[in-house]
Amino acid sequence: MKYPDEFKKCLNCEHEDFSIRRGYCAKCYPLILKIDKIKKGILPNVLEEIKKNFDFLEEAKKEYIWQIKHRLEIIKDSRVPKDISAHDLEYRINGTLKFWNGKSLGKINDSIAFYLKDDNSRSYVYRLFSEIQLLRPFKIDYYKLYNSGDKH
Ligand SMILES: [Zn+2]
Repeated sequence: MKYPDEFKKCLNCEHEDFSIRRGYCAKCYPLILKIDKIKKGILPNVLEEIKKNFDFLEEAKKEYIWQIKHRLEIIKDSRVPKDISAHDLEYRINGTLKFWNGKSLGKINDSIAFYLKDDNSRSYVYRLFSEIQLLRPFKIDYYKLYNSGDKH
């Protein structure tokens, strides 16, 4: 029996979507496509600029792809429940705060462990904070891209 496309799950975030394309949902597919293009040598403008003017194209490509993969990971984290330790949750909450306003709450894993003893609760809050990161449209961090040349 052949399953209709609308019941397929995204290969990255497991989201069930009517518009699964090449195995990915509407959120993940454009990001997958960006990686594919780079791998085929079709570079976005910023990488073309780096190729023309600098000698760290390979590092910049890696950084660019890493940033996209990180976003895909956040999408997955916002949708797929998993076991989350107090430390994982602290990391995600502080990461989200830094992403939004540059600030962190510091060490909060002890209080998380005290107040959120239940696995499902921690997992839910983790997904919630992942989702909060996604509220901000995805943009490549050009500063990190240009700095990738320093990692020689
Ligand atoms: Zn997806």
